[in-house]
Amino acid sequence: MASDPADRASAVLEVDLVGVVANWRQLAARVAPADCAAVVKADAYGLGAPQVSAAFAAAGCRRFFVATLDEGIALRSTLPTSCEIAVFNGPVPGSAEEFVFHQLVPVLNEPGQIADWAEIARRHGGLPAMLHVDTGMARLGLSTREFTRLADELSQESATRWRGLISHLACADQPAHPLNDLQLARFALMRRHFAGLPASLAASSGIFLGRKFHFDFVRPGAALYGINPQPDTPNPMRQVVRLKGRILQVREVERGESVGYGAAHVVDHPSRLATVAIGYADGWFRSMSHRGSGRLGGERLPLLGRVSMDLAVFDVSAGDPSLARPGGFIELLDDDYGVDAAAADAGTIGYEILTALGRRCQRIYRGMPNQC
Ligand SMILES: *Cc1c(COP(=O)(O)O)cnc(C)c1O
Repeated sequence: MASDPADRASAVLEVDLVGVVANWRQLAARVAPADCAAVVKADAYGLGAPQVSAAFAAAGCRRFFVATLDEGIALRSTLPTSCEIAVFNGPVPGSAEEFVFHQLVPVLNEPGQIADWAEIARRHGGLPAMLHVDTGMARLGLSTREFTRLADELSQESATRWRGLISHLACADQPAHPLNDLQLARFALMRRHFAGLPASLAASSGIFLGRKFHFDFVRPGAALYGINPQPDTPNPMRQVVRLKGRILQVREVERGESVGYGAAHVVDHPSRLATVAIGYADGWFRSMSHRGSGRLGGERLPLLGRVSMDLAVFDVSAGDPSLARPGGFIELLDDDYGVDAAAADAGTIGYEILTALGRRCQRIYRGMPNQC
């Protein structure tokens, strides 16, 4: 007889769709009358693009961004056609017809991509695209020099129907960084060549730099999923994920016994240890070794030794013995210890924590009626 995947799961990632939508509404209200898109690349930062995107669409979101063509194709089949799906990476050579077939809007980043798309667009009698200009990130988008050379031609281009002009901030999570105003000024100048075209500069952190940065629409990702857009101030976003790992085994160890690979931790007092089904293959980074922690009932308990591929060991000596038993769960992410706190312990950023968790954890959705 088949058991419920959630009941038999090793590691469970609970996604609060009501919270995700509340975060989108909060940002949408903050930037109105500018529009609020949703960035759902990397499977909505590991939370599940189909479920999360459907929730945004139901809340009124009409602009979506993914990174790759395949992410766009997958999303197209789950969203109403009234929702625009734009693809940050744009077409790689030979893939343009897929964009047309799946009604995806490419973001065009460099001159060759722009020329290729214009040719396809002429063949189809006109096709939409967004233009990405680089204002100081040196990653994607036309450089200032390329833009100066091409601007007149691009603004008069008739086969490519421009849907938006975008640029991306390099230091928006540091409000005092001088590059923010410099990028703003460069973007405002470039925008003048495209009168009436919707312009967008801000992602999550940029939204909090103030109105001048909002232009016609904003493109948050991280903040929707609970990551603090302004790391030096209290987090205005709701935590929307909980992670728990199944306790597989509990044992008593004597002082002097070692734990895990490399015998890298030696216990210094008689202890009760719980082996938990969470490892780096689940996205619980190996850099959590010796540093991470989990919660059992009300107690925060230390992770001992090295995180291995599928398992980590916690010292549950101080935990409630009735909870520290095989089949129970240790909470790894919750409202008190969220993605940013875990990122600090793992030596990374919340973005990397979330995107890594998508792989093997069993995802459970809370708060939407027709969950999948
Ligand atoms: C990923 C990305 C975003 C979203 O960024 P967050 O910091 O997650 O809000 C917006 N714009 C571009 C171009 C991106 O690559």
